[in-house]
Amino acid sequence: MTTANAYPVTQTIRTIGILGGGQLGMMLAEAAMPLGYQCVFLEDNSECPASLYGRVFHSDQLADFIAAADVFTLEFENTPTSTVEQLTSLSKSGSKQGMFPPLIALDIAQDRLKEKQMFNALDIATVPFMEVNSEAELKQACEALGLPIVLKTSRGGYDGKGQFVIKQDNDIKAAWLELKDAVSGKGSLTPTPAPLIAEGFINFNREVSIIAARAQNGQVRCYDLVENHHHNGILAKTQAPAVGTRHLLQQATDAITKIMNHLDYVGVMALELFVTKDARGHTTILANEIAPRVHNSGHWSIEGAVTSQFENHIRAVVNLPLGDTDNVHPAIMVNVLGQYPDISAVLNIDGAHYHSYHKAERDDRKIAHITLMPNDVTDLESAMAKLVAVLPNKVGLDKEYGNIDTQSNTADVEAKNDDLEDNGVEAALSPKTEKAKK
Ligand code: AMP
Repeated sequence: MTTANAYPVTQTIRTIGILGGGQLGMMLAEAAMPLGYQCVFLEDNSECPASLYGRVFHSDQLADFIAAADVFTLEFENTPTSTVEQLTSLSKSGSKQGMFPPLIALDIAQDRLKEKQMFNALDIATVPFMEVNSEAELKQACEALGLPIVLKTSRGGYDGKGQFVIKQDNDIKAAWLELKDAVSGKGSLTPTPAPLIAEGFINFNREVSIIAARAQNGQVRCYDLVENHHHNGILAKTQAPAVGTRHLLQQATDAITKIMNHLDYVGVMALELFVTKDARGHTTILANEIAPRVHNSGHWSIEGAVTSQFENHIRAVVNLPLGDTDNVHPAIMVNVLGQYPDISAVLNIDGAHYHSYHKAERDDRKIAHITLMPNDVTDLESAMAKLVAVLPNKVGLDKEYGNIDTQSNTADVEAKNDDLEDNGVEAALSPKTEKAKK
């Protein structure tokens, strides 16, 4: 495998070329600027969020984009691999200073089968899975794995699209008819033929993720485990750190470190995990997927970590030392979907930080995020209740926070904290923060 370290990186980088120009690109550019770097973007929408921060080149202008930048990265993993290949060859020949993350990471992240095969080869546990190319193979998979199963396209799906839960034998035909075009390559989600993947349906307790950065010298720094809640398949809320996961942090850290080292990865990566019970009834984690880029579940790190995921990604790409990933303060990040809230009502909440992506409102579109970090951690729940009250799209959070008194640290909050303690769960403090306090 070609090592990224073999690239002739020098200290002459001025401009970073980013494939994609969405909000992730925008936040990467925000982090690059104070370090002295300019960003340019390859993106067909000239009014994309990143356009506020640097020049946007259309895909027809690939040569101009390449000429404008010294080193390259991406914010969107469904980037055509041919572009990444070209940027990799230019870097190997010495005319550019690198394409990070490496092509292999992209190739694997774009394919659920390869991804799960890699996890298992590295001794990282996953749900049981099988490749499916025909209705007959789907029937075999249902028998072998046992129902229910989740049938997914191996390529092209996102935010829960391209998936079918098969609960009973009668569902098999419908599932096959819905997803079979992906196998022949006729599906709009998967223009190239790719098998389906049948996965055992896991009754997970919680969904968590871990984010880490790997530098060009191989150093890996991990953020805390965070807990993610989805609404209609889209991330609604991330709690950082995830309460009660101290015993899982080492397992998650080992898993992402193994993956990054195996891929000779450079930059930030996210690993999404299910928390479940193993055969002996012990809580454990199963790897679901990687994102070879900065990730929505790491947005809290802009305010909540010593160094944000965006800054650490830029540092890795330009070959600067990585920054401390410790959590400075427990935080909750909420995605704003579809409709903007009244910004002054949001900022009236102590410890609220608002990030608009400057996008037009559209149903379920991610248009902003808000990070809550009240000075007193025990105010986190009441701050959430206040936030949910002013969000036009409550992203399902009203069920959890609708009844909490927004005045302050109320009986409801105390009852919830008592619940957590009764369940043997520690308070919402970072394992690292707790260590530091001792
Ligand atoms: P994915 O696109 O693989 O991230 O799946 C989207 C969502 O579907 C996940 O965040 C889970 O909530 C759920 N999901 C995915 N795979 C499984 C599975 N094997 N068992 C149960 N739920 C799943």
